Amino acid sequence: MNRFIKFWKLGNPQFNTTDFGISRDGELVLREGNYQYNLYDLACKFGTPLEIAFPYIVERRLRETIDIFNRTIKSFRYRGKFFYHYPMKASQNKEFILPILSEGGNLEVTSSNELWLVKRMWEQEQFSSRIRVICNGPKTNQYLSLITELREKGLNITPIIEDKFELAALSTFRGDIGIRLDTQVKVRGHWDNKFNRFGLTAEEILSFGRIRNLKLLHYHTSKQLEYVEDIVRPLKKAMAVYIKLRKNNPNLDMIDLGGGMPVPFEKKPLFSTQAIVKRIVRTIIKTCDIANIPHPDILVEWGSYLVAPAQVTIYRVLSEKIVPQSSTVSKWYIVDGSFMNDLKDTWAIHQKWHIVPVNRLQAKKLSRVWLAGLSCDSDDKYTAGGTYVPMPSLDTLEPNEQQYLAVFDTGAYQDALSSHHCLLSSPMKIVIQNGIITIARKRETAEEIGKQFGW
Ligand SMILES: *Cc1c(COP(=O)(O)O)cnc(C)c1O
Repeated sequence: MNRFIKFWKLGNPQFNTTDFGISRDGELVLREGNYQYNLYDLACKFGTPLEIAFPYIVERRLRETIDIFNRTIKSFRYRGKFFYHYPMKASQNKEFILPILSEGGNLEVTSSNELWLVKRMWEQEQFSSRIRVICNGPKTNQYLSLITELREKGLNITPIIEDKFELAALSTFRGDIGIRLDTQVKVRGHWDNKFNRFGLTAEEILSFGRIRNLKLLHYHTSKQLEYVEDIVRPLKKAMAVYIKLRKNNPNLDMIDLGGGMPVPFEKKPLFSTQAIVKRIVRTIIKTCDIANIPHPDILVEWGSYLVAPAQVTIYRVLSEKIVPQSSTVSKWYIVDGSFMNDLKDTWAIHQKWHIVPVNRLQAKKLSRVWLAGLSCDSDDKYTAGGTYVPMPSLDTLEPNEQQYLAVFDTGAYQDALSSHHCLLSSPMKIVIQNGIITIARKRETAEEIGKQFGW
């Protein structure tokens, strides 16, 4: 048994698969405290494609993050505080956001419509004025007036200045203001620095002199920063700017590192959270102590890190086809969902996923396969970066038995990026917490999708 758990990389805290295991019948299970969920039974019951979200994983990851920062701050006698800000764009789903807020998270929004969700929560009395909301992204007039409206209602709204027009537009804003730095530090990652259009350079920011109500310096480097130095170097650059900026802006007392904390999508070990938090806190202490200024509050906006591991997407294998002229892969497995539609990053940024069978996890005969989606698009595929996905061979299926597979870590970005190529329906989505299953999104009917196209 242990051999299979190890082979499929389950039960491993380094890979965020601690709670996943294999039942006696070779089926994929997940434990939440005293509850155990059999993902095969769920796939049979609700049908596929199926997304399953586990809010308890988000809650636990947030508690751990806050805890690690607070413990590190205490042990280093750091004199600032830590605030976690959830970047809403990672997943705007209610089942994630409400638990994050009740566990002490703050927010970061990127658009007027995301901020509208804050207004909605406020009106429904699900939102406290203690929660700070950082407003990033280009400020349309609609966005600016919502920022002002919510501030006047007493919410804790901090708009971030992204350019000189916003500096002017927010010059009369009566609350804390942040400014976004483009650190221009090159890091390894998907985001090419050459095309970075976000924020202002150090020179531009410092040329503004005094900025009314300036409270926070923000930067965001890239997503999935897999090297410690790619987190530390931009921070050093930002702290150098922070120190200069404080001379004219004595109220400045927050440094916001943005997102980019990596997720072990490929189940290869990454640095530990504890290790990076120590580096972050130590780096800030060192620069502040040399410059003889107080320690700022530390903010992070780690999105994928928090929510990606809290969702899986399940497909059923419809059929198989021979891959001609290949020595590494033998077959295509055609699944009953779409990578291009439901897991858009597969196509957009060649995201790699950990993919595990949902049943027959103890099968001895495996095939090396590529996966193909339901759409007619030749790009609707997953080839694990040109390698292969191991899956139980279909030759050994019992009559009437079906093969299901689970794509791990699909909780960040995929829902909002999803689309309807070939008019395919989005997966059904269920949420499981404390043994209770709720249907968060029904399977779309042809009629519902047709409507969006004027039918
Ligand atoms: C996208 C984004 C984040 C979140 O990035 P992750 O890679 O998901 O952690 C945080 N802050 C800003 C400004 C962003 O644009």
